[in-house]
Formats: sequence, C-alpha cells, structure tokens
Amino acid sequence: MPPNPAPTIVWFRRDLRLGDNPALTAAVATGRPVIPVYIHQAETDGPWAEGGASRWWLHHSLKALDQSLGAPLHLLHGLAETVLPRLAREVEADAVLWNRRTEPWAERQDAACAAALAGLGVATRSFDAALLFKPDTIVSQSGQPFKVFTPFWKACLAAPPPPPPLPPPIALRPWSGAIAGDDLESWRLTPHTPDWADGLRRSWRPGEASAQARSSEFLGRNLPFYAVGRNRPGQDGTSRLSPHLHFGEISPRQLFHAARAAGEPGEGRDRFLAELGWREFSAQLLRQFPDLPQRPLRPEFERLVWRDDPDGVAAWRHGGTGYPIVDAGMRQLWATGWMHNRIRMVTASFLVKDLLVSWRVGEAWFRDTLVDADLASNAASWQWVAGCGADASPFFRVFNPVLQGEKFDADGAYVREWCPELAGLPDRWLHQPWRAPAQVLRQAGVTLGKTYPLPLVDHDQARKRALAAFAGLKA
Ligand SMILES: Cc1cc2nc3c(=O)[nH]c(=O)nc-3n(C[C@H](O)[C@H](O)[C@H](O)COP(=O)(O)OP(=O)(O)OC[C@H]3O[C@@H](n4cnc5c(N)ncnc54)[C@H](O)[C@@H]3O)c2cc1C
Repeated sequence: MPPNPAPTIVWFRRDLRLGDNPALTAAVATGRPVIPVYIHQAETDGPWAEGGASRWWLHHSLKALDQSLGAPLHLLHGLAETVLPRLAREVEADAVLWNRRTEPWAERQDAACAAALAGLGVATRSFDAALLFKPDTIVSQSGQPFKVFTPFWKACLAAPPPPPPLPPPIALRPWSGAIAGDDLESWRLTPHTPDWADGLRRSWRPGEASAQARSSEFLGRNLPFYAVGRNRPGQDGTSRLSPHLHFGEISPRQLFHAARAAGEPGEGRDRFLAELGWREFSAQLLRQFPDLPQRPLRPEFERLVWRDDPDGVAAWRHGGTGYPIVDAGMRQLWATGWMHNRIRMVTASFLVKDLLVSWRVGEAWFRDTLVDADLASNAASWQWVAGCGADASPFFRVFNPVLQGEKFDADGAYVREWCPELAGLPDRWLHQPWRAPAQVLRQAGVTLGKTYPLPLVDHDQARKRALAAFAGLKA
C-alpha cells in the first residue's frame, strides 16, 4: 500500500460503539486510514426527528464516541446522500462503509447514498448490526412476516443463533488531512434556557463504556431475579439499557450472548431474552407497516372518537392526575427521561382509556421525553396498550391504577419516591388517597386538592365510557 493510501469513510448512525461494529471492523481491516463521520440530518427523520431527551443523549454519546475512537469523529450536517458524496470527493475516499438502520425510510436513503457514491466510482458496503436477526429473515412457514409475538419469538429461537459479537478493532489508522466539519455545540442538542436536563445528567452516563458496565452489573446481579424484578418499579430490577441499545452503544448481539453466558436457562434469563425479542418484533412491525406511528393497525380504530382534553393531557404529562401510580410514572419520565415498563403500560392505559385521548398524543409525548424513544418500540407499544396493534392487549382490558399500584408497588417505594407529598400515608391508602379517612390524611400532612390533586376522573365511570366508545366501533 502506498504511504498515503485513499481513506475509508465510516458513517456512524445508531451504532455509536466500537465493539460489534462490522462497518468499523471492516474499515480498519483494509489497513487504510479511517475517517469516522456522523451526519446530523434532522430533515430525513422528518416528523420523527429526535425529541428533546434523545437529543441530549445523542450529544453526550457522540462526545463519548469521539473520545474512544482514537481518531477524531467528524461532524457534518445535511442529507447523507448529498454530504457523503461531497466528502468522498474531497478526501478522495476509496470506500464508504456503514451499518444499516432498520427503519423503512433509512433503506431508501441507503440506496440513494450508494447510487450517488457509485456515480463517483466510490465503493460502498453496508452491514447488519442493529438487530439480533437479519431483517426480514424471520418469517412464517408461508414466508409471511409475523404479526403475533409468540410465534415470532419461537421462530427466532429455532433459527441459527445470532453470530457472536465482534471485538472492538485494535487501532484505527487516523487520516492526516483536514476536514471542515461542525462543532458539536453548534448543533444545540442540549437545552440551554431553561436547562431542564439536570435530572438526566444525574441519572445517566451515555456512551459505550457505561453501557458495558451497566450490562455486566445487571447480568451479574439481577438476571436470575428478572422475571419478578421486572414488575417491581420501586426496585432496580430491569437492565435500564434501553437508551444504550437505541443509540447502538451496545448491540443486541452483545447482550444476547452475554445474557446466555451469564445465566442458566430459566425464567429470568429466558424472560430477558424475550424482551430483546419484543424490540426485534417492534422493528419488524415498523418495516411491515411504515405507518405504524400514525395509523392503527386495526383499521376499525380509525373510527374511534377520541376526546380533546387539553387540561387532562396537561395533568397527565406533569403527574397531576390524582392517581399516585400514574403521577409517579409521569414524574419519573419528566425527571429522568425513562419510565419503568409496567408503569409505561399503566400511564398509557390511563391516557387512552381513562381520559379517552388518542394514543398518538401519548406516543408524541413519550417520543419527546424518553431518552430511549424509539420509533418502532414506542409506536408498537402504544398501539399494544390502546388495543389497536397487531398483537395487542384487548381494548376492554383497562388497567385499574389503584389495583396496579397495590399489586406492583405494594410497599409504596415507587410512589413515595416520586410523589413525596404522599410519603406519610400508610400503604393501605397510598394508592387511593381520596378514600383515606380525614384523620389519616391530616396526620400524613395531605390536603387533597391542595398538596395533592383529587382524581381527575372516576376510574369506574371512565372505564364504562371507554368501553362504550369501543362498543361503538362494532355498531
Ligand atoms: C407505552 C410504551 C412505550 C414504550 N416506548 C418505548 C421506546 O420508545 N423505546 C424503547 O426502547 N422501549 C419502549 N417501550 C418498551 C419498554 O417499556 C422499554 O424498552 C423498557 O422499559 C426499557 O427498560 P429496560 O432497558 O430496563 O428494559 P429491560 O426490561 O431490561 O429489557 C431489556 C431490553 O429489551 C427491550 N424491551 C423490553 N421491553 C420491551 C418492549 N415491550 N418493547 C420493545 N422492546 C422492549 C429494550 O430494548 C430493553 O432495553 C415502551 C413500552 C410502553 C408500554
């Protein structure tokens, strides 16, 4: 190879890691200088561009990647199909490599990038690294994509296991030329005035090193108890790896193999692997139904007449519904950018069924406030709760927020953490303070309507209203 061989560009996307990164590994293996690039292209994501919490995460994840690469990460903005050919021409690149994203629009963009680069005589190679199984390979016996999770996951487990993850490449050969790129701060991904990200800073450390540390800690300590722990919002029973997985700081293949190595076959391990399966299932639903974030998979739900309730929605968003388990969840989301899965189901059910507000309103709020906001998982889960998804919880299954609280937060640890104004209430009344005797409320320092809201709706009546609206669909 000549002393200054043409460089290879690696286009980073939702794969902000060194380990199990086939595009990066292949680029390093060429022995050529490597130019790592990230392109900020809010235009392509259109209405699905990252929300505020995700942008905060992205900022810090890009910083962490830059520090770990051993070569500067070049930041560019614009449409990738314009930016990549321009860069390739400027640096006289030999090839451009990337890992594929799985969203339908990303596939179209990949084709446009490959065509534009081919026109310049620049080679391209792309790889699968976002899912456990190659997209579109898990299909039914008749060759159709699955619409129901259980047979989908069975088919996954019957397929050859995902390939073992690649180790991080030993060292990158940096490119010595100059590239005019952006400064990360100029993208203004983090909030300034007001700076609402304090809770995020205290809760998270984005980046690959932190993802690996969290994975080892969870698999080493919690995996055997996961089947029960995953339903206890007051405990640290789940992995909290979702934002790391979303941004590709850890790959699902790394996690799959690490979980298999860490745990004996059994409830905890198998349940955890199945949750990775739900992520996989959601991604393939979005591929099958690109309208998933907008349109109900069950078309009859287009006819459901949702309520327009700005005050109710505002109370829901900010944790002021008067139902402690709902309020605790919404406050956890606002403060930390994350919410426990069980509570995501309870809060989503409350919006859609108790308030009879469209699931799209909730989907949008979660997309803006979750650090793990993921187009496929978020839309599929909202449709699941709303009963309009492919493999959904039936609409008539309306979560009772009091019973959910009493069952899954029996000792009240979760509600007491996020609704401290109720902390003095005995467990018996904690999930239904409006039923507590006046003296109990007084002793706990709770004045309903003042220190804590009265219930926004009567759950039994709201449930009846929701069921009547649902019955109307069949008429
Ligand atoms: C209304 C609603 C909205 C949701 N929105 C999102 C979202 O935007 N992004 C997101 O990643 N998850 C979403 N989920 C799924 C789930 O709540 C989170 O993945 C989980 O709470 C993340 O916490 P964890 O990493 O500790 O999960 P763990 O229990 O440790 O699970 C491990 C991993 O499996 C995946 N996973 C677990 N449960 C699900 C699920 N039901 N669907 C898809 N993947 C799953 C996640 O990648 C998760 O990190 C949503 C669920 C609901 C009910």
